[in-house]
Amino acid sequence: MKVDAITTEPPKWGVKYEDIDVDENLPIKLKPVYTGICGTDRGIVSGSLPFAYAPHGRQKLILGHECLAKVIEAEDNDLGIKTGDYVVPIVRRPGKCVNCLIGRSDNCSDGDKHEAGITGLNGFMRSEFQDYPQNLVKVEDPDIASIAVLTEPLKNVKKAFEMFDTVSKKSVFTDANGAYDEKRAIIIGTGSEAFLYGLASRDYGFQTYMTNRHPETESKLRMIERPNITFYDYTKDTSVEKNGFDLAVDTSGDPATIFRFIRKMNNNGIVILFGTNGRAPASTFDGSDIDYIIERNITILGSVDGSRIHYERALQDLTRWNYQYGDLISNMITSRVKPDNTDIFLHKQPGEIKTVIGWS
Ligand SMILES: [Zn+2]
Repeated sequence: MKVDAITTEPPKWGVKYEDIDVDENLPIKLKPVYTGICGTDRGIVSGSLPFAYAPHGRQKLILGHECLAKVIEAEDNDLGIKTGDYVVPIVRRPGKCVNCLIGRSDNCSDGDKHEAGITGLNGFMRSEFQDYPQNLVKVEDPDIASIAVLTEPLKNVKKAFEMFDTVSKKSVFTDANGAYDEKRAIIIGTGSEAFLYGLASRDYGFQTYMTNRHPETESKLRMIERPNITFYDYTKDTSVEKNGFDLAVDTSGDPATIFRFIRKMNNNGIVILFGTNGRAPASTFDGSDIDYIIERNITILGSVDGSRIHYERALQDLTRWNYQYGDLISNMITSRVKPDNTDIFLHKQPGEIKTVIGWS
């Protein structure tokens, strides 16, 4: 089938909107409604993510892993996916390891999985695609159809908090009231993933801070007022750091920044590394940093991707947040552009939280 698609030729620099032939014959036919752009897409297009590669025997990779799609034709299937349904396609496709076989390809043990729009599998930035029903997560709530493109980035957050739940059992992590109100979380970064981590942290009840090494726009500051998240520029004012943090989530991928915040952690603190930045400069840490981590029982963990259960939990959160916070969530989508506007892959929009491409 011929589709209009946004393509790139990894590992080379570049992006194109063009007609391309794809060879697919799968039981569900879909049309994207929105596809989101993230740092990974921009990294692939700029040639700075060496792990990206095109499908076997092809030079071109169709981009796109954050997607809300509409089913335009469906063969009968056990999962009840029907024509007209809104669905979110799962990005990562299993390999043959034991974790992949039990539906947890997010924890793939041999790396032999594929990711749509990233590693060896065409993505969703195209006028039409086909898929198997088991790779589609149905959007049950019609009220979130305009924001469900955020499901894919949010599923990463749900997986990371599952890791937090596991690791926090190592000690009593709640406060003296058995809650998190006296516990402090810091989210490093102010992009879309950072916002979603901030909201999830508030769901737990953490006192939640977001930080960056520059001031933030008025519009972003207004947005985090409602969920009661506090922003500070850590190069200017560090007064909120004097009581330390119990949970840190890094979305920057910058080693120097990460080690700066590890030194702010309280006893039994948990540091979740989520952001990746292969171009971040080298940084050093010394024996006193290691001592700090050990003496305080600090856990540092990496978390990537998520499985079907995390997509489902993400959809539930979007429904609840849509009710709880009103247009806050839809305002996270700061611009909607047409597919031929490939410039957005090369330049971040001013004040951008999430840019999405509309396909209708
Ligand atoms: Zn695997």
